[in-house]
Amino acid sequence: MKSMNRREWLKSTGKIAATVAVAPLVFSSMAHAGTADSLQSKSSVSYQDHPSGKDMCSNCMHFVPGASPKVDGTCKVVAGKISPHGYCFAYTPISG
Ligand code: SF4
Repeated sequence: MKSMNRREWLKSTGKIAATVAVAPLVFSSMAHAGTADSLQSKSSVSYQDHPSGKDMCSNCMHFVPGASPKVDGTCKVVAGKISPHGYCFAYTPISG
């Protein structure tokens, strides 16, 4: 294994520290109801308009239903119209 000098070590640990510092901000914005400009883009959470097994927006705690169960609604953390049958990485099942 190649040995690291102090400068290389600081560079590598700095990248890790920056990642650790930013991660809570990303997950914090996902955990709370967002304002229009703080919502995640669909691509950033890999939104898809079909379920992942039984996991889908209509049984996610972040989903805000539309006028009827079959029409698109919105999401507290993801921007745009959201299908009740959609799914993304921020999926959080309704407990109970
Ligand atoms: S699965 Fe994703 S897009 Fe669907 S309601 Fe939950 S957080 Fe929003």
